[in-house]
Amino acid sequence: MTTVFTIEPISAFSDNYIWLLHNGTDAVVVDPGDAGPVLAALSERKLALKGILITHHHFDHVGGLEALTAATQCEVWGPENPKIIPVTHRVSEGDTLHILGQAFQVMEVPGHTLDHIAYQGEGILFCGDTLFAGGCGRVFEGTHPMMRNSLAKIRRLDPQTKIYCAHEYTLANLQFAVAADPKNTVLEERVTHCESLREQNIPTVPSILADEIATNPFLRWDAPSVMATLVAESKLIGSNSDDVFAGLRQWKDMF
Ligand SMILES: [Zn+2]
Repeated sequence: MTTVFTIEPISAFSDNYIWLLHNGTDAVVVDPGDAGPVLAALSERKLALKGILITHHHFDHVGGLEALTAATQCEVWGPENPKIIPVTHRVSEGDTLHILGQAFQVMEVPGHTLDHIAYQGEGILFCGDTLFAGGCGRVFEGTHPMMRNSLAKIRRLDPQTKIYCAHEYTLANLQFAVAADPKNTVLEERVTHCESLREQNIPTVPSILADEIATNPFLRWDAPSVMATLVAESKLIGSNSDDVFAGLRQWKDMF
């Protein structure tokens, strides 16, 4: 059974997106870092909060959890990290959950944090701070090979998958992407398109996985053009895919 639902961004802090899924009556939110804007959006739309999905333990993704569960007694799905409370369903790789009549599968995608998971179903991916439009999350708790492996898992999904990440970092990410892959004409077009969206205050998220594969350097560790730039910029620390990825990520950290 497939229930049609709408997905809307709720803006929080300076550049977070809390994703709101609803069918006109019931709602689910992803990574509510702040309860205030979620409660306002629910009341404006006259929605009942039924569930919360959490991708990882960072405060800007879980900060609203206690207030929202206290106000609504909704269910919460989250990673196997006891620090995240309250969670009613701890989930891990391969688990299936049903929200608003739709099945989602859990993918473990460690790297940004060790507990990071993503939710994938019906051509949609909620990936928190793992893959961003035009970039990827910083590697805080994991290793570069771990992060590349997580991104490789995402890269194998259906290319038409819509990528719902948790931040509007796209223009800054694309600036780095152009430095890393300067001759990529598809990337050039994407920059123009995203600049025009931001000028009109329209989110650049979700993006389509196929566009990320064509333009996001952090999904292009095996693209000869990206490797050539790393060589030219003396950022290449070795020749295998993990080295290319690590060279790119460390360059971006300083960019
Ligand atoms: Zn994070």
